[in-house]
Amino acid sequence: MLLVASVINPATGKVVTSISAGSAKDVDIAVDAAKKAYKTSWGLKCPGSVRGRLLNKLADLIEKNIDEFAALESLDVGKVYERSKAQDIGSSIEVLRYYAGWADKVQGKTIETNELKLAYTRHEPYGVVGQIIPWNFPMGMLSWKIGPALATGNTVVLKPSEITPLTALRLADLINEAGFPPGVVNIVNGYGHTVGQAIAEHPLIEKVAFTGSTLTGRKVLKASAETNLKVVTLELGGKSPTIIFDDADLEQAVKWAAHGIFFNMGQACTAASRIFIQEGIYDAFLAKFTEIAKFLGSATGDPFLTGTQHGPQVSQTQFDRVMSYISSGKEEGATVHVGGERHGDEGYFIQPTIFTNVKPEMKIVQEEIFGPVAAVIKFKTEEEVIEAANSTTYGLGCNVFSENGSRALRVAHALEAGSAWVNCAQVADKSVPFGGYKQSGIGRELGEYAIDTYVSRSLVSFASLTQDYADADESGSN
Ligand code: NAD
Repeated sequence: MLLVASVINPATGKVVTSISAGSAKDVDIAVDAAKKAYKTSWGLKCPGSVRGRLLNKLADLIEKNIDEFAALESLDVGKVYERSKAQDIGSSIEVLRYYAGWADKVQGKTIETNELKLAYTRHEPYGVVGQIIPWNFPMGMLSWKIGPALATGNTVVLKPSEITPLTALRLADLINEAGFPPGVVNIVNGYGHTVGQAIAEHPLIEKVAFTGSTLTGRKVLKASAETNLKVVTLELGGKSPTIIFDDADLEQAVKWAAHGIFFNMGQACTAASRIFIQEGIYDAFLAKFTEIAKFLGSATGDPFLTGTQHGPQVSQTQFDRVMSYISSGKEEGATVHVGGERHGDEGYFIQPTIFTNVKPEMKIVQEEIFGPVAAVIKFKTEEEVIEAANSTTYGLGCNVFSENGSRALRVAHALEAGSAWVNCAQVADKSVPFGGYKQSGIGRELGEYAIDTYVSRSLVSFASLTQDYADADESGSN
């Protein structure tokens, strides 16, 4: 029987359409096609300049259809339409163009040993790579994945999230239209425990790149360990801190702090849900931050309406999860300063929420909520805030605000996070590496660093004819 997954509009809770959900057999078919394409028309058979041209063509086609892509993304995820267009789809186009530029610049190194030997590395594609992405930035995560994989000559089997498949499906049409050889990109819809698991376990997939929760990341790593020891890169969850010192530019810091937690309705891996404020500016910060949360609350609604600033959570499951964290905050004795309730009676809207009077051990301070829920915490000293900020199992991002450059950098360096943003928050850039410390992940995406994660390195050590075996030293190592 064909399995189906319903696609739901989170602004209404109503079914928009349904998609067929694949099986492990579909993954086998996709991997076969990807393997064939790798050997015949991609990988080392296709010059980097051609791969780059195709990636640019794909970016151009998305740009030509940007309104449609933005509408699909807003319908599927509940994102405010104008932001879908400018940020999600706009930045995906930029990412593809950035990696198009890399496609003919991937090269190994020559290595000095001695005058009789030529040693060099070849940076080769792995072959077929598996890619598994979440629902919060469907096109964004897709572009971060396929951009560097295709630029370096790998072929791809990609699984979108079962709840947000629409833009990936539309993109499949454009991949054909752009002229990629058949089998180079294979998009397999379906559930995590079937299609995702089959990708993670597949013996002919050499590398898997995963973005999603830490819990699922463990499963992907385990599946790889128990099958063919794939190279695994993981982009996982977070519990990022924003730290604002007394000497910060308060107007700017408040706006960035709000962006840090309320951007994408809090559904961002770098969502800065713990906001540490130095005591001298605590009251002033809270007053201004409250104004922004209330404004967003008043501009909550249909993502397609002009003026809307805050949309719904992506699904009933996410809505329930975030509301249960809000309940736990209340039960554990934190104060709901603003929000804390459902917005409206249709769809999955939650009011932008601020908690105060929180304690370090509370669930809302320790666990990833993935919703528009901030905990505001007062601190006195630099040492104290560094210790508190580092006291979670995650280490994805952090934001530090101070007009004292030395202090800002000292604190940024002391925080255990893959990305530190100083006097700004949560601003990924296509050319800057992104990834996590601790249980927030393994490896880096974006920038040149991502290119590195899609190539294996083989060493060639070429001895000149004049080298005699007898000249080799005892260990034979020269
Ligand atoms: P999730 O882990 O539930 O799902 C992510 C993907 O994995 C989906 O496509 C899902 O179908 C698939 N999956 C589920 N079970 C699987 C299995 N057993 N084997 C293989 N694949 C499986 O995460 P989500 O709810 O879609 O996304 C939210 C999470 O993603 C949050 O924790 C967030 O922090 C994280 N995230 C991290 C980054 C980052 O770059 N670090 C970016 C975006 C989201």
